[in-house]
Amino acid sequence: MRSPSAFTADYPDIREAVARLCSAYPGEYWREIDRERAYPTEFVRALTEAGYLSVLIPEAYGGSGLPLSAACAVLEEIQRAGCNGGACHAQMYTMGTLLRHGSEAQKQRYLPAIASGELRLQAFGVTEPGSGTDTTRIRTRAVRDGDHYVVNGSKVWISRSEHSDLMVLLVRTADRDAGDKPSDGMSVLLVDMREAEGLTIKPIRTMMNHATTELFFDDLRVPVENLVGEEGRGFRYILDGMNAERILIAAECIGDARYFIDRASSYAAEREVFGRPIGENQGVQFPIARAHTQAEAAAGMVQEAARRFDAGEDCGAQANMSKLLASEAAWAAGDTCIQTFGGYGFAEEYDIERKFRETRLYQVAPISTNLILSYVATHELGMPRSY
Ligand SMILES: Cc1cc2nc3c(=O)[nH]c(=O)nc-3n(C[C@H](O)[C@H](O)[C@H](O)COP(=O)(O)OP(=O)(O)OC[C@H]3O[C@@H](n4cnc5c(N)ncnc54)[C@H](O)[C@@H]3O)c2cc1C
Repeated sequence: MRSPSAFTADYPDIREAVARLCSAYPGEYWREIDRERAYPTEFVRALTEAGYLSVLIPEAYGGSGLPLSAACAVLEEIQRAGCNGGACHAQMYTMGTLLRHGSEAQKQRYLPAIASGELRLQAFGVTEPGSGTDTTRIRTRAVRDGDHYVVNGSKVWISRSEHSDLMVLLVRTADRDAGDKPSDGMSVLLVDMREAEGLTIKPIRTMMNHATTELFFDDLRVPVENLVGEEGRGFRYILDGMNAERILIAAECIGDARYFIDRASSYAAEREVFGRPIGENQGVQFPIARAHTQAEAAAGMVQEAARRFDAGEDCGAQANMSKLLASEAAWAAGDTCIQTFGGYGFAEEYDIERKFRETRLYQVAPISTNLILSYVATHELGMPRSY
């Protein structure tokens, strides 16, 4: 049964079409891929060919030029169907850095190829071993040498880099203490990873299948023409994209929450214990109803954040709060779903344990709950900063 929602009524055609596409990729498909820690190539290809990964690319560059709220609907439905958008969601927000800050030549060269699926831009290289939350401490360095930058350093947790042609890479082009602010002196490079010499990619096996990796740069040469925007202003460009990233991931979490609620409410209505459906017991009903209530509240915040983003209004607080609320709603719904299924919740073939592992990530990445609370405390409520 599909749980009702006041916040899942927009883009009915897109939602229905995405759900139909996803039905060709059932639990067996994802279980097999999860077991092997393989990449869902066929699924990503199908989404690309149907144009869903390029909904945010303007029509002039071959996409459908839809607003962020449409992209949210796509990702929510993917997750709700039991699929995993984590394999390909990055293209939607990394592309924004190029779109907003790239030169016309860069946009002409890359965006139509990304929209058609000829090129994949799925890798976003920011985090380093010594700088996760505190991005200003990145140490990967790009030094100008004629018409190239020479990049040295390392990154960690860079997802999908083995399955991407291009990467948006944040590097230091000046020391942290050389500018007015620690965030000065960083730059964004668009790295073509196909046959790149001086780039080593090492997969990291994680508790869920996320194709994440460590990257090592050893004199990697990147043409100067691949600098996005101005040298030294890269941190601002990355920050610009973060609201979109948070809202899109919040939408995925809403999809996860709804997946768990749909599964739990259906199972509770069918599973008989003591000669009656377990869902007749309020001890089983109420946690599912609570999870649904929590998901609805979070979905309302996601919708408002996307609306503000699309209207060009300030949406930092809503983007952050929606990511926090939605990731927690998904986790609570997953926990309730496992409890409702009893022992079967732990069995691989029911898919719930897999989805439970997958959705846990979003309380840590792309930004952890503590840092969102810190943002709300300091930016919204005017309290002093702890760092
Ligand atoms: C599977 C996976 C995929 C990822 N994919 C990507 C990717 O594609 N590209 C990319 O660039 N990065 C990626 N990341 C990195 C992710 O964004 C970071 O893990 C995240 O930002 C947290 O950084 P960290 O792990 O270094 O934690 P740390 O910064 O070491 O923080 C550890 C903990 O301390 C808390 N903390 C730190 N400072 C404070 C404070 N002042 N107050 C309160 N609490 C604090 C944090 O909230 C966190 O819980 C991925 C991570 C994972 C696990």
